[in-house]
Amino acid sequence: MKKIMVFILSISLILGITGCSKKEITPVSRETFALGTIIDFKIYDKDQDKANKVIDECIERIKDIEKKMSANIDHSEVMTVNKNAGKQSVKVSDETMYVAKKSLEYSYITNGKFNLTVYPLVNLWGIGTKKARVPSQSEIDEAISNIDYNDVVFDETQKTIYLKRENQGIDLGAIAKGYVGDEIKKIFIENDIKSAFVNLGGNVMAYETKVDGSKWRIGIQNPLEIRGEYLGVVRVENKSIVTSGNYERYFEQDGKRYHHILDATTGYPADTGVISTTIITERGIDADALSTSTYLIGLDEGIKLIESMDGVEAIFVTKDKEVYTTSGLKDRFELTNEEFIYKK
Ligand code: ADP
Ligand code: MG
Repeated sequence: MKKIMVFILSISLILGITGCSKKEITPVSRETFALGTIIDFKIYDKDQDKANKVIDECIERIKDIEKKMSANIDHSEVMTVNKNAGKQSVKVSDETMYVAKKSLEYSYITNGKFNLTVYPLVNLWGIGTKKARVPSQSEIDEAISNIDYNDVVFDETQKTIYLKRENQGIDLGAIAKGYVGDEIKKIFIENDIKSAFVNLGGNVMAYETKVDGSKWRIGIQNPLEIRGEYLGVVRVENKSIVTSGNYERYFEQDGKRYHHILDATTGYPADTGVISTTIITERGIDADALSTSTYLIGLDEGIKLIESMDGVEAIFVTKDKEVYTTSGLKDRFELTNEEFIYKK
């Protein structure tokens, strides 16, 4: 089971529970399991029926997206594309097309470390499944030989995706949850929700502000501790906050940890000295893609990449317990755990 990395420090929530303030709204909360993770909703609305219906609608939408994009569902659109690799093109929904193209964009940006066609490698390692194991070098070489994002053919008019060679495959696991966050946000807007907070297993969507109009305070998970132990707090308004970490999904063999973010150029779990990366930006799909991407390219290149982008900020934690942030966070991020050093 995945750990939830980021959680909320909401004063309104605390007041709601203790009943200190009549003005505070107790949120409608729900936890559900989808996309291989726990999803936690909190909607702040006086109309509890409406808030519950909105959550129902969000869960329906999540299941719909999961059915299309999951690599763990046999007949998902993604797996149908993969099973037909080297054989024929496969019709997909507009949204699978959109998410796959986004993934391609980040494949270019990271020179293929982040890779739309990483599926053969993900499948080989099986991290997060019962068949997880360290593959042999020849198996890794074989998987890498099938990874090439230039072999994905998108047909915009036919709405199809085709992989040129057998044994190739696409994987949207690093980006789909971010997209889900964006779709949930659309539902909130359609239903005139004013304040909400959603945690999709470490992908947080802090919608608008707290009920009193102040910024959300989001705890950033301490990657060395269990869920809910945070190392710092960031203040945000209407943002996605997405963390990728080596503690999310992994197995251990001979005292070594093998985690689920695989460098598609080496074939091994990324090992740049970074143990978690957090991206803060408006759109969830970008936050998700970038948290995985920066995890893969490491601290120096990662900071450079994020600083070059408008409206995107990042927090990096290294295995030496150093914390680095991009310039836009210097007065919005507060380190609260003294075991770590904030390298401003
Ligand atoms: P999480 O799912 O824990 O939030 P990420 O967003 O970082 O974490 O995504 C990790 C998932 O992305 C893996 O489980 C796998 O499906 C996929 N993945 C692993 N390595 C890569 C890669 N190099 N490029 C693209 N996707 C990857
Ligand atoms: Mg990601």
